[in-house]
Amino acid sequence: MVESLLCDAKTCVYNAARKCTAPTINIVGGTTKNGSDTYCATFTEDRDQVFSDKSTMIGDLEVSSFDDAPSVSCNAVNCTYNDNNKCYAAGVKILGPKDTAIGSTECQTFRPE
Ligand code: SF4
Ligand code: SF4
Repeated sequence: MVESLLCDAKTCVYNAARKCTAPTINIVGGTTKNGSDTYCATFTEDRDQVFSDKSTMIGDLEVSSFDDAPSVSCNAVNCTYNDNNKCYAAGVKILGPKDTAIGSTECQTFRPE
């Protein structure tokens, strides 16, 4: 079970001060042996800017007190941390420097078996 997750995809609707507020996420990678081929399929661009400033609050949620990490499903079967399409890394980091499309995110924690 993933205990912490940090994500740089700041334009994702679920991103609040680099924490992921989605209850579950889905990472896609298939049979890749390279983390750059993985991406977060749960990424959803916050086009409508529903929450204009998510650095401290997201809706009624105080970001500083939010410590949950999502349950992570993942089909990158060649990753060390993948067991039966679930992620068992203690901490996961998602990259998203050009984060306006799903495919530009990446699981940096991917480690080939
Ligand atoms: S890109 Fe994925 S991990 Fe990052 S905040 Fe969005 S749903 Fe969560
Ligand atoms: S660390 Fe591995 S198993 Fe976990 S989400 Fe990333 S690619 Fe998938």
